[in-house]
Amino acid sequence: MMDSSYTYPLMEHFYTIQGEGVHSGRAAYFLRLGGCDVGCVWCDVKESWDTLKHPETSVEQLVKFVLESGADFVVITGGEPAMYDLNTLVDALHEHHLYVAIETSGAYEVQGDLDWFCLSPKKFKMPVESAYASADEFKVVIYHPSDFQWAEDQIGKLRPDCQLLIQPEWSKTEQLLPKIIEYVKNNPKWRISLQTHKFMNIP
Ligand code: SF4
Repeated sequence: MMDSSYTYPLMEHFYTIQGEGVHSGRAAYFLRLGGCDVGCVWCDVKESWDTLKHPETSVEQLVKFVLESGADFVVITGGEPAMYDLNTLVDALHEHHLYVAIETSGAYEVQGDLDWFCLSPKKFKMPVESAYASADEFKVVIYHPSDFQWAEDQIGKLRPDCQLLIQPEWSKTEQLLPKIIEYVKNNPKWRISLQTHKFMNIP
């Protein structure tokens, strides 16, 4: 029997359009869990890092938020959501036939029966081995030209059907986009992901 009083630290939650990655353009309910110890220098949600700053919120409440929105797609993000056992939350969302995705650095073993696994590796704390095998989508943020090679070095660990995306770090978009365009033209197994929600001025 599922324990719907189980809690997770919730930083924010909102219904929006998924702006990046394979599911870009799809309406999505975001559950952003607090807590992260990966420490990316360019992190744009540093206020997520301290778990204790985010209220423990029950699964029952989290599911209610999603159902009230009318969403059919849920993105569990952070922070680093894989720091928590997500089984209870994912199972509760599945009871309502919701499609559930995770966005994770892969720094921790993911616990939960996710429908979509977006692995976005970070140099600051590399993914655990199992994350590569689970990934449906491998989304690498390019912050420096050396990151292309860093991305290539990891793809041998992925499943053959995993989709490969590279995305410019937002503050470097202007500088890096021409290089990314050239890179994808020369290496067509990769696709470009852009943070389109930022162009749309939505969360
Ligand atoms: Fe920020 Fe995500 Fe890196 Fe954590 S893993 S520091 S939340 S960008």
